[in-house]
Amino acid sequence: MKPTPVLEIFGPTIQGEGMVIGRKTMFVRTGGCDYRCSWCDSAFTWDGSQKAVAMSAEAIYEKLKEAGGRSFNHVTISGGNPAMHPGLGELVALLQEQGIETAIETQGSIWNDWVKEIDEVTVSPKPPSSLMKTDWARLDYYMGELRPRREKEVSLKVVVFDEGDLDYAMEVHERYPAVTMYLQVGNDDTVTPEVEELRDHLLAKYEWLTEKVLQEERLNGVRVLPQLHTLLWGNKQGV
Ligand code: SF4
Repeated sequence: MKPTPVLEIFGPTIQGEGMVIGRKTMFVRTGGCDYRCSWCDSAFTWDGSQKAVAMSAEAIYEKLKEAGGRSFNHVTISGGNPAMHPGLGELVALLQEQGIETAIETQGSIWNDWVKEIDEVTVSPKPPSSLMKTDWARLDYYMGELRPRREKEVSLKVVVFDEGDLDYAMEVHERYPAVTMYLQVGNDDTVTPEVEELRDHLLAKYEWLTEKVLQEERLNGVRVLPQLHTLLWGNKQGV
């Protein structure tokens, strides 16, 4: 099977976003993305500033054990866009053989059959502030493929920076009303090393987003979250 470009393997840590928020997990971060979001907080996965290492599923699993010992039973596969990499199907199967649960986050632009095997899939289409354009037909296909899975979960997550993003979130929510949806505060300062300053700034934005959702009938069913790991550790990579 094709090796997967991997940028970092770390943990155990806690998942800071979406449906798995707060869960102890290991992270496998793959290189490469088919998007170029204006506010990307993981641009190092695609801008050439860091080099990915091509790894087999077995090598990734060994590295996970080396980093996490026996202190984990959950692995989050993140990116970039991890759904670009067909070789990850083998990793998912290997982890499941070991009784380890898996989660993924992807923007829903590239389908790979192994995504169906993941326990918790977060589909995170990108709002207008990203300057990316949603291919709705592709997203419809993605959500359709994920619908019939048994005992596995799927959710939608939209990162919100402004009113335009909020309108987009409503459109997504109304298009897939049966899917649990999370709104998350966008981090518009991905470079500052000042954790406390960033925390105050992001909590103020969380308050703004919460107020908006509380007033909006079209968002009655959504859940509003901060980006938990940023509140704890700021913009630090690998936590
Ligand atoms: S999809 Fe994610 S990793 Fe890719 S550019 Fe957008 S925010 Fe960055």
